[in-house]
Amino acid sequence: MQEDLKLEVGQEVEAMCTKCKGPSIHVIESIKDDKIFKVLCKGCNSSHRYRPATDANIAKMKEAIAKKGPPKTKEERRWSRLLNKVDSEKAVDYQMDKSFDEKAVINHSKFGMGVVVEIMDQTKISVAFKEGTKTLVQNR
Ligand SMILES: [Zn+2]
Repeated sequence: MQEDLKLEVGQEVEAMCTKCKGPSIHVIESIKDDKIFKVLCKGCNSSHRYRPATDANIAKMKEAIAKKGPPKTKEERRWSRLLNKVDSEKAVDYQMDKSFDEKAVINHSKFGMGVVVEIMDQTKISVAFKEGTKTLVQNR
């Protein structure tokens, strides 16, 4: 009986991938102490520590995903980080004839809540919204 298959770099294994959100085929990149150490995911091409695709690990990942809700975009994460740092109670309605300060919280009729990230000049501000950063006018 050949119980222990010899592990080799370049061999394909099923492993957990945090980017692909589940088990996927990986190529062994390095082996340490007869155990798979690093793998390269064939799905998303990222290299990471090997995590066996066991039922327990799959269940754990599903649970973590369910808890987090739908994946957020980079812009959305940045936006929520910014909002955490400011007092959203102080949000003012956006109007182009007003003037805004950096880190001011604004309420935009179309884009929703946003945080001023940069005063570009006398008439332009850069504001981070959930869907991305927009340039708005001020002092008009
Ligand atoms: Zn992947």
